[in-house]
Amino acid sequence: MPGYVGRFAPSPTGPLHAGSLVAALASWLDARAHGGTWLVRIEDVDTPRCVPGADTLILQQLATCGLVSDGPVLWQSQRSDVYRQARDRLLARHLSYPCACSRKDIAAALANTHKPRHGELVYPGTCRPERGGLRGRPARAWRFLIEAGQAPVQWTDRRLGAQQQDVAAEVGDFVLQRADGLWAYQLAVVVDDAAQGITHVVRGADLADNTPRQMLLQAALGLPTPVYLHTPLVLAADGQKLSKQTGAAALDLSDPLAALNQAAQMLGLPPAEGTPLAALAAWTAAWASGMGPAHLKLGPSNAPT
Ligand SMILES: [Zn+2]
Repeated sequence: MPGYVGRFAPSPTGPLHAGSLVAALASWLDARAHGGTWLVRIEDVDTPRCVPGADTLILQQLATCGLVSDGPVLWQSQRSDVYRQARDRLLARHLSYPCACSRKDIAAALANTHKPRHGELVYPGTCRPERGGLRGRPARAWRFLIEAGQAPVQWTDRRLGAQQQDVAAEVGDFVLQRADGLWAYQLAVVVDDAAQGITHVVRGADLADNTPRQMLLQAALGLPTPVYLHTPLVLAADGQKLSKQTGAAALDLSDPLAALNQAAQMLGLPPAEGTPLAALAAWTAAWASGMGPAHLKLGPSNAPT
């Protein structure tokens, strides 16, 4: 598939960990197995959470594993103007509006309406234009307006199969620009996937439930929707998701092949020997022969090793 463009988009909140290497390897193998291009994007849009120097370190770690971007690396922190243009396009189409609500306001509004609560607060639409907008209060954030009658978003993940989410009911109008002025992850990802010509997104399953929001944004901005594959998560021994936030140890890359083999095992690929590049070539062949996503559907691949 010569038109294939994939990507790996780490947040530089720390060095790569075992889980992020799985996503990096899967996205690289899928691109190579399709004869496509693989790009790296540094998702440093949430600047307060970023660790200075982590971006350089991540790129070095990837290179140590033989994973090098086929094109220029994109830094989201340099793209505020592009995100603003996208937000303004939505504004012009009445698909974005300012919101004055604090987290406390939202919680209070939800308590009054007895709406079901998930881990994340469902925005109750307090500042929607038809409800009077800001009503004199100062704007804090900008939200995406989910149009009335919006059907649940349906999509097919290459590993997880048919998926569905009623974004209006489960998330509500979501933030495009945060109260601190920073651009929201959802908007930056959608704008950048389109700017980089991404056709296939391969990323960790923890991001799967972002996909419907991103698809709504793609439709609203007239951008194409990539094909999605969400890879299994590496769980810590206690069953918790491994992440920088939960203190996942940085990868030990003194033996890159060992780290790669561990990631490959999570993807249902056989052990490989030799140099990292030889291992990558062997796994690319295995992935192309169907051992990748098809195999993942069946495998009990979430067990910690
Ligand atoms: Zn509001």
